[in-house]
Amino acid sequence: MDKIYKLKGQSQHYVWGGKNYIPTLLNIPNHTNQCYAEWWLGTHNSAPSIIESEQGELLLNEFIVQNPTALGQKKLANTLPYLLKILDVEKPLSIQLHPTKQQAETGFIRENAKGIPLTDSKRTYKDNNHKPEMMIALSDFWLLHGFNHKEKIIATLKKRPSLTALAEQLTHQNLDQFYAHIMQAEQAQLFSWLHPIIIENKTSYQHNQLSLNNPDYWVLYTIEAMEVPLDKLDAGLICFYLFNIVQLKKGEGIYQDAGIPHAYLRGQNIELMSCSDNVIRGGLTPKHVDIAELLKIIDCHEINPKIIPPAPKTQSVFTYVTPARDFALTNIRYKSNQKLTLETTYAEILLIMEGEVKIYQNNTTLTLKKGEAAFICADTDYQIHGITSGYAVIAKQPE
Ligand SMILES: [Zn+2]
Repeated sequence: MDKIYKLKGQSQHYVWGGKNYIPTLLNIPNHTNQCYAEWWLGTHNSAPSIIESEQGELLLNEFIVQNPTALGQKKLANTLPYLLKILDVEKPLSIQLHPTKQQAETGFIRENAKGIPLTDSKRTYKDNNHKPEMMIALSDFWLLHGFNHKEKIIATLKKRPSLTALAEQLTHQNLDQFYAHIMQAEQAQLFSWLHPIIIENKTSYQHNQLSLNNPDYWVLYTIEAMEVPLDKLDAGLICFYLFNIVQLKKGEGIYQDAGIPHAYLRGQNIELMSCSDNVIRGGLTPKHVDIAELLKIIDCHEINPKIIPPAPKTQSVFTYVTPARDFALTNIRYKSNQKLTLETTYAEILLIMEGEVKIYQNNTTLTLKKGEAAFICADTDYQIHGITSGYAVIAKQPE
């Protein structure tokens, strides 16, 4: 089925989202001053995209049920295996990690057997899929990613008088034991660790004198941004001293494998992941934290963050390299009057990030501006003509 259609995504108005970035990208008004946290393109049941088909507007998942050949001859499943998102992180997100495929399958069956409804706040496994994810920064982007090296954690803790006892403790423990201890700490204990740090750094924080590589900065920033009361401190705040604080420049990316703890702190990005909503939380959240499940799934290995380099400016078509099997992200650059010929093996979603293009496929012509998207069926040859220069991203399956 060689066809190409316009596709409309859906937004998620989570409270951590900014109010301008996504409305500006999509060229839509935000009269009611809502938070636009995420823009989703895909078939996920929580917010399926809408396709402009020959039969009128249809949900993309319904369209695929009616037109299974849209996914291609070699397809491995009956749905689109990936989900493409734009995120605008104004306030920090919870620390989270994602299960392996096998953990998700077991966990989903277990929670179903217990009769926990899918909408229950204590439900961890919303589906039976894993959720590796990659992201490309659209601005300077800050995040937590995996455990730092034990020696570095000890050195960081030692520098803070209220945390020196923790540093001493870590010399006798492995990271798993140490992390379990932190995550189960009582409120009074959290207060005795964190309150002296908050007092000591308050003035320099307010005068913007703390480096963004300094975990103290992120402790104070998170307490302010998330309005954390000092009598309800979150064990996740200690994780700023344990995890890698990573800065991505615009265009750089990172991949989150199963079990790696991570938290998006600030910035905008493009995210591409397996189609799943399985999130195990590890703090920085007022939501339910399932400590037992968290400790079972978390990967406490020391991690050297691997930054994915930006797409080279000289290449019109460039696919980022990641270990993902369900998805790949391609960057397409065009200048005005430039013509690019492309073909699909599986179904793809194309999103214009900058500029404007015309897309030609058999008798169909689509004009797409910044923020507009298309669904391209499998086994389709098509041409992109640049009208004004810019770039697009294409979500697809690896060949
Ligand atoms: Zn994640």
